[in-house]
Amino acid sequence: MSVRDFINDLDLKEGDRYRGDCPECRGKNTFTATNILGEMRYNCFKLGCTVGGIYDTDMTAAEIYHRMKEQQIARAYTNIKKEKETMEIPEYVVIPKANHTKHQRFIRRWGIALGDTMYDVKDERVVFPIKHKGRIIDAVGRAVGKKHSPKWYRYTGEADYYTVGNGKILLIVEDVLSAIIATQELPYITAMAILGTSLSPKHMEKIQEYNRVIIALDPDAIGKTVEYRREIELWTGNKTTAMNLLDDIKYKMDEDLNKLKELCNEVSSNH
Ligand SMILES: [Zn+2]
Repeated sequence: MSVRDFINDLDLKEGDRYRGDCPECRGKNTFTATNILGEMRYNCFKLGCTVGGIYDTDMTAAEIYHRMKEQQIARAYTNIKKEKETMEIPEYVVIPKANHTKHQRFIRRWGIALGDTMYDVKDERVVFPIKHKGRIIDAVGRAVGKKHSPKWYRYTGEADYYTVGNGKILLIVEDVLSAIIATQELPYITAMAILGTSLSPKHMEKIQEYNRVIIALDPDAIGKTVEYRREIELWTGNKTTAMNLLDDIKYKMDEDLNKLKELCNEVSSNH
């Protein structure tokens, strides 16, 4: 079956977007097709796969306009329904006190500010609340006690990502701890932990808000770094830089931090 036939079988309506396995290279979830304004745009993100292009769909301007209106209305309704729910904080997740020694030790170990964390006294976790539009919708808890697994626990799963900071440069890092430490070292950036193993349209929507994107995942995830860079550039058109780290950001290696600062300076002077 040709890629064209494959796309035709998807029966995408105006404004529809599809993401799934590539019909050509069989790449897992690497293929996208978007039917937008009378054009079908399709692409595979897999390295080495040549699938990609644009062709005209045979819709008239009036049809396109009509479908778009319908979809705008449908989308508006889904957005109302999909408003993130506020997290109900369990009673065992508390404001940390001086006698929560495991919490204290963790905070001191990583040199992070006390203010933004809570403590899960039941599971012994340092808890980082995740806010959306000013409300706490989720939290991640880092194990600091006897119970090690999972290392990072998600309390509701509502959040699509974790961000900290208000800068126009976005730094994508491995986890919440690295994000916090990165913004303490570079207060003029925003750091994002993607809270999962792949990028979704929700991530892309957020990433699109920034001028420049730097990806600095832990050194053992270099393949993922390269893949993310490619996906982000293709989806958002944002200039994206992949950075090789010597060690995880949270270990604050001088060389890594200096390189990162240089990159950020380059980025800001270009704008
Ligand atoms: Zn492919």
